[in-house]
Amino acid sequence: MPRPKIIAGNWKMNGTPAESEKLLKALLKGFKPKKEVIAIVCPPFTTLITAAKILKGRKLLLGAQDVSEHIDGAFTGDISARMLKSIGVKYVIVGHSERRQFHGETDQKVNAKAKKVLEFGLIPIICIGETLELRESGKTESVVSQQVDGVLGGLEGADLKKIIIAYEPVWAIGTGRTASPAMAQQVHKFIRDKLEMVNPSIAASVPIIYGGSVKPDNASELLNQPDIDGALVGGASLDAKSFISILRTA
Ligand code: PEP
Repeated sequence: MPRPKIIAGNWKMNGTPAESEKLLKALLKGFKPKKEVIAIVCPPFTTLITAAKILKGRKLLLGAQDVSEHIDGAFTGDISARMLKSIGVKYVIVGHSERRQFHGETDQKVNAKAKKVLEFGLIPIICIGETLELRESGKTESVVSQQVDGVLGGLEGADLKKIIIAYEPVWAIGTGRTASPAMAQQVHKFIRDKLEMVNPSIAASVPIIYGGSVKPDNASELLNQPDIDGALVGGASLDAKSFISILRTA
């Protein structure tokens, strides 16, 4: 079965509910759903309820940017998968490099979060990717391989069939520096081959999306690579015209 294309907008820490409402309305105005494209927006937590109301019944789906690895309890400041599900969230980004960099998240923590997301019937968008230093020292494949092992540890076939992997080279996030389509394809293929070793029956069906300064002018070439199944878009998802243009390219 062909893999769908997935375009997810990561709004990061941007926008009050009122500002987000404006952006969502502008997006919905130009948004033309396509059967083979899954379109997702991931606003900040404070906007999710507003967004869920605006997106109800629409084909623009709702994601969150992070989640706790716990269900309930004394975890000040955290939000659980149970809470996200209750308001209509369908996707959750886990292990974004900014969570790893600024909040010390490890592959083990990302793995625990992904498991919790799956337990509540939501879909994790699991982020991995190397830093510039690791790329320049020729360690891209070894670090990505280690991350895949860490973030997928203990996940069984049925769960692996539901996940999305986002390959986001850290040096390309928010920098305007994009991996060339060939560079990105090489790592995506490496990840797919690695999945083949983990579980041969799921490797062909797991969507692997690319993130790192995706813009309307580079989206087409990236999305045309055989193992690039979509994009996780940061900066360009905050501009309705740009995000719609990327959605149309997919
Ligand atoms: C991201 O936040 O996941 C991202 C890829 O950001 P940007 O598109 O701005 O590089």
